[in-house]
Amino acid sequence: MKRHNFNSGPSILPQEVLEQAAKAIINFNDTGLSILEIGHRTEWFVSVIEEAKALVKELMQLGNEHEVLFLHGGATTQFMQVPMNLLDTNETAAYCDNGIWGSKAIKEASLFGNAVEAASSKDKNHTYINKSLHIPPESKYLHITTNNTVEGTQWHHYPNTNVPLVADMSSDIFSKQIDFKNFALIYAGAQKNMGAAGVNLVVVRKDILGKIKRPIPAIMDYRKHIEANSLLNTPPVFAIYTALLTLRWIKKEGGLAVMEKRSIEKANLLYSTIDALPAFTSHIAKEDRSLMNAVFFLRNPANETPFLELCKKEGMVGVKGYRTIGGVRVSMYNALPLESVHAIVDLMTEFSNKNA
Ligand SMILES: *Cc1c(COP(=O)(O)O)cnc(C)c1O
Repeated sequence: MKRHNFNSGPSILPQEVLEQAAKAIINFNDTGLSILEIGHRTEWFVSVIEEAKALVKELMQLGNEHEVLFLHGGATTQFMQVPMNLLDTNETAAYCDNGIWGSKAIKEASLFGNAVEAASSKDKNHTYINKSLHIPPESKYLHITTNNTVEGTQWHHYPNTNVPLVADMSSDIFSKQIDFKNFALIYAGAQKNMGAAGVNLVVVRKDILGKIKRPIPAIMDYRKHIEANSLLNTPPVFAIYTALLTLRWIKKEGGLAVMEKRSIEKANLLYSTIDALPAFTSHIAKEDRSLMNAVFFLRNPANETPFLELCKKEGMVGVKGYRTIGGVRVSMYNALPLESVHAIVDLMTEFSNKNA
């Protein structure tokens, strides 16, 4: 059966990336060896890292002030690693709490210093992005989650502040054109929009490092990883290779301008359908709707299970809402074809006509 993969993460990757990754497991670049069995310090793998770093810089249009790292662990590791590197015990960092990932980031930061809430959207169950920020002027940085994967909201205009901006871009990295140079630190777990689980992309402006007194274990120290070119210890070799394949694909398709155009087209199609059909409803503030993860509900809760069953029967994967939120979540990452959105929109229309 033709499947439509709306998984929120790990999520859909381009078919050609999967084929190339599969081939590399058997025979990497005609070396006669698998990508899983070559040394990470061989010239073969060093060239993978070098090309991946160069592609990240090219797509983000960054110069030498920023450094690109591929580190172990998911974004959750960065919740800890960011404050460990940037925030001394007696210092303050401001965090925006617009969803569960942002909340978790604050909790982790408070283990290292004074993490304060610059704004929260908890008052309305995280159904919007709270943009009235109160940033203590002495803050070492302001942390935002650019796309709230679970709640279905997204920053469409980033806060304008003199405080260094740190962003968790796990679920919308490389989905649109951004002034990446305005960010002091960007991190993203790869498994949503750029590859396989197991690796974090970290892009850091070097001048913010080395300013705290805390001793940092080597494996957690960004500076040590920069010195070692992401080869401080054995990196997640296969996940980095899959990220490289995805980065090549993004460039070949036309870069971030094309990813953005496609995302807008897909999201417009889905949201206009939700708004038009009586069976469905969205609680998210319109101006903050995520182009990556659309969260919506059946107007009649009794219709939820039948709708999800119908999706399942028609080969639509990953549309059940997050466990604490319920409803429907349709993720539309870069690799999701417009055709899949058409397919679910047709199904929604048919369902609404029969059940509204
Ligand atoms: C998925 C996700 C995370 C957690 O990622 P892990 O790789 O599971 O640690 C953090 N932040 C955002 C925005 C996410 O979408």
